[in-house]
Amino acid sequence: MQSQQAPSNTSFEQFDAVIVGAGMVGTALAGLLAGAGLRTALVESRVAPLMIETLDTSTLTPRVSALTPVSQRLLTHLGAWPAMSSTRVTPYRYMQVWDGEGSGHIDFSADEAGTAVLGHIVENSVTLAALNQKVLTLPTLQAYYGVEVAALQTASKGRSVILKDRRELNAPLVVAADGARSALRALAGIEVAEQAMEQDAVVTTVRCEKPHGGCARQVFVDGRPLAFLPLSLEGDEHYCSIVWSTSARHADTLEGLSNEALGEAMAETLDHRLGRVEVIDRVHRFPLIQRHAKTYTLDHFALVGDAAHTIHPLAGQGVNLGLMDAAVLADEVIHAWRRGASIGERATLSRFERRRRPDNAAMLALMKGFKTLFGSRQPALTLARNLGMSAVSQAVPLKRLIMRQATGERGRLPRSCR
Ligand SMILES: Cc1cc2nc3c(=O)[nH]c(=O)nc-3n(C[C@H](O)[C@H](O)[C@H](O)COP(=O)(O)OP(=O)(O)OC[C@H]3O[C@@H](n4cnc5c(N)ncnc54)[C@H](O)[C@@H]3O)c2cc1C
Repeated sequence: MQSQQAPSNTSFEQFDAVIVGAGMVGTALAGLLAGAGLRTALVESRVAPLMIETLDTSTLTPRVSALTPVSQRLLTHLGAWPAMSSTRVTPYRYMQVWDGEGSGHIDFSADEAGTAVLGHIVENSVTLAALNQKVLTLPTLQAYYGVEVAALQTASKGRSVILKDRRELNAPLVVAADGARSALRALAGIEVAEQAMEQDAVVTTVRCEKPHGGCARQVFVDGRPLAFLPLSLEGDEHYCSIVWSTSARHADTLEGLSNEALGEAMAETLDHRLGRVEVIDRVHRFPLIQRHAKTYTLDHFALVGDAAHTIHPLAGQGVNLGLMDAAVLADEVIHAWRRGASIGERATLSRFERRRRPDNAAMLALMKGFKTLFGSRQPALTLARNLGMSAVSQAVPLKRLIMRQATGERGRLPRSCR
């Protein structure tokens, strides 16, 4: 990584692409573009990058993601997967979803899906540190940590990102990967459709009496999905990451419980499938809002990841969708660059939007539908969901189709994910 001291006066630097936000999505995109030879700037407000050598791996960190096999292929393409798997990833081969208020249930297995695994649960810190190890050392990558964006301006043949330390970064393509509350998206004047999900995610880590056996479990009670995501610490399979999406009032109650009482509430809601549950971390809380930007692209400007869309975590798709945005945008941009076209021109960026918006919109709509179906106490809907889940569980071709969707095998995959 090349890094620079802040200049005393305004300075101009020219790139092929400027990416703002070095989370998992922005860093993956930077790796794809710089890896192909584009001069790429990566701007991040955090002071320093997470590095794999300095990660404290003695404890589990609370923020995790279920990564699909397609995301795994992208991370392998970027060279990050070996460091991730030698640090800590937990494969899951089974998934159980059931209705805690009825008889409906659906079980999935990797064998039925015809894949080695259904996915991996990985701490976000591990994914990001492994990406940083590969991406920040690319010679065509210039990283700027500890700086924020002050303004976004139109420039000749592109856009300028003005940093608060007065540096000006010019490029034919500027990408906002700065997360759900994207400042760059606001500076570009792109509106967002927001829908509060009327739920908060209560997140913590637990140790269970019984081993998880490589199974991701999710139970719906009163429209509140409680997920037990399997984690392994030095080969010990008794750990799980918890995501309990629930009303703000119930989240307040859960937060007020002692660790012992919280563990009991979780064990009981999970029908004691993993025996006694011991809470080993504090409770973290995230308000859940689904957002979808009205457009992902303007001239010389694009949105990716949570800057473009945020989704209910019940199907564990958020970062997987973001990584696909990065892979498809890189596909289109690198193709345009190699044939000498302007990489920020509208035609290039529109192709990216046409490939990504329908997939993201369908997933957002599906999550909204799930929430309505499982949140309903109407007898007809309760019966329908219980019959529906059990019927799907018996219908092998339909189940295979759902599994292909859940594992990310949807539509025309970008080159880096094939
Ligand atoms: C409870 C919960 C559970 C989840 N579980 C899953 C799951 O199982 N599977 C899954 O796929 N997804 C999951 N998600 C979603 C996933 O965490 C997000 O989709 C993902 O982290 C988004 O990545 P990103 O890189 O787009 O954004 P972020 O991770 O938000 O990264 C944005 C980066 O931009 C930087 N930044 C912000 N503003 C500026 C600025 N002005 N200038 C410079 N830098 C800036 C930030 O510091 C940050 O580094 C979950 C989300 C929640 C809340």
